[in-house]
Amino acid sequence: MVEAPAEKSKKPNPTAHLKTVPEERVMRDLIRAEAFQFAKSIDRSKQMTKPALLKLGEELLKQTGLDQQYLGFTVVAISNEFWREQVSAIDFKRRLLLLPHCLKNAEGCPADYDEFGLDCRKCGACEVADFKTKAEDLGYKVLVSEGTPIVLKIIVSGHVDAIVGVACLNVLEKAIDKILLAGIPCVAAPLLSSNCRSTSVDNDWVFDLIGLKTAPPEKVTKTYVHLMRASNKMFEEAELNQLVPRQRAKGAATDPLTLHENISYDWLMQGGKRSRPFITLAAYDALNGGKATLSADGVDISDSVKRAALAIETFHKASLVHDDIEDDDSYRYGQATLHRQYGIGTAINVGDYLIGLGYRLVSRDRKTLGAETAADILDKLADAHLKLSEGQGAELLWRDAKDKTISALEAMKIYALKTSPAFEAALYSGVRLAGPADQYEKMITDFSRHLGVAFQILNDFKDWEGDNDNKLVAGQDILAGRPTLLLALALEGLTGGDREELLAIVQGEHPRQAQNLVPRVRQLFTKADVFEKAEKLVEKYRARTEAIADAVEPTELRELLYYLVDTVLERAEPEAPQSIPQFVSLTLPLVHV
Ligand code: SF4
Repeated sequence: MVEAPAEKSKKPNPTAHLKTVPEERVMRDLIRAEAFQFAKSIDRSKQMTKPALLKLGEELLKQTGLDQQYLGFTVVAISNEFWREQVSAIDFKRRLLLLPHCLKNAEGCPADYDEFGLDCRKCGACEVADFKTKAEDLGYKVLVSEGTPIVLKIIVSGHVDAIVGVACLNVLEKAIDKILLAGIPCVAAPLLSSNCRSTSVDNDWVFDLIGLKTAPPEKVTKTYVHLMRASNKMFEEAELNQLVPRQRAKGAATDPLTLHENISYDWLMQGGKRSRPFITLAAYDALNGGKATLSADGVDISDSVKRAALAIETFHKASLVHDDIEDDDSYRYGQATLHRQYGIGTAINVGDYLIGLGYRLVSRDRKTLGAETAADILDKLADAHLKLSEGQGAELLWRDAKDKTISALEAMKIYALKTSPAFEAALYSGVRLAGPADQYEKMITDFSRHLGVAFQILNDFKDWEGDNDNKLVAGQDILAGRPTLLLALALEGLTGGDREELLAIVQGEHPRQAQNLVPRVRQLFTKADVFEKAEKLVEKYRARTEAIADAVEPTELRELLYYLVDTVLERAEPEAPQSIPQFVSLTLPLVHV
């Protein structure tokens, strides 16, 4: 038995004043009816974004003379109309009904929690049983749970194509960005309150949403889900073995060669978000008309192209093994790092093996790809490999140096070397696989540089929030002696004793006990306005990536670039790790890099 989810901490909610659910049913119906009319004019062929939805919501409230406090509710009503046709056209068996556990009768619910959420016994004391029964009768998969990551995993794993959800406006607000970015058809009924206990909902609205059913719509909204799935599938045993057959039969390895190959392949298949191969496949598809964004049947990608995409991930996985050794990290993907499992020597060698494998994945296909194409891609991969090593080398030398001063410019240079080349190689490979890439080459380099730097700064923020996957404590970068931009900005912004104190902490010369260091560093960072300054830099780099994307043709490639900016620079809310139901394979989606 699994324990019930803990009560959430009550952090101040900056958008609470916009998330009132109208008390009167007549008002809720009015907003839904207005949204129905209003949404008729929305272009459904293009992906919707959260800012665009908010703008539409504000417009509708203005038109109808209603108060801004209903913005959240109105946005959900418009979003439902945007997706209604597409959800309606998806077979019931390919839909997921997501219910919140707070709908249960808090006083006497006999259900237990298992690893998939609340295991409703259908006692009839609340609506959960009624919704679940109706949905299951139709063929739905049903979860009484919460959390976007699990839903995205389910979608990308290929088991469901649409979501019908019930949730409070707070949860819907958090989920909507990710759902929209992934282009997942989704409709939702907001709970009438957000107090997390014995909540209620307009039952007839939920039954309507569950029962939606029509013929396929004329306009299909573009989605990258099919390409995410294609990217993910390359790392499943069967397809991986087809694309890059093992030299030795997998099984209980007794000889060291088979064992080494098993470790390498298992590591390649491990976790991660497959974002780099996705970028390659999506760029390739974008320059071939973007057919894969319209339907699963449009995913027409040869094995040679897939192998080139796979190569990008093998380099990434190799760099992670080596990084983990260099930083002596204990965990990766929620498990012990490779060197902690097999020793440093074996782990280094697995990394080397994967680098060789990556180059060979492209070089062996030179006849199919064309010698020039293969050579150009190999050159870009080698370039990325060198830049990454330069960036990592600079970081390690700084880490091991006595003097830990660093300027913002130096930190940014390291960022540009450490993160951007992987984006560049992935994007370039996809473009080059589709044809000559000369006209795109500079754009790809500039775009990737700005995107990589912004991403890395966001990663600095993440370190101060903690990260459930691999770290549990905020401020680890400081303790591990990483040359972050936040530190550089603080050293530039502080003076006198404050600067000396920060430097002493980073250089391991401060007498304070370790557990007291991080709160003090946070104080010093705050005093130097580091978080605000870094925030502005993220926005500056984001604006640059968008300006570059604005000038790109064709539309499909331009839209992909916008999508990458939105997903790579998305701010993830830390959430507790969650189990995945049996019908979901354990591979992960793109949403973050
Ligand atoms: S219907 Fe299900 S969720 Fe509702 S109170 Fe009964 S067992 Fe609990």
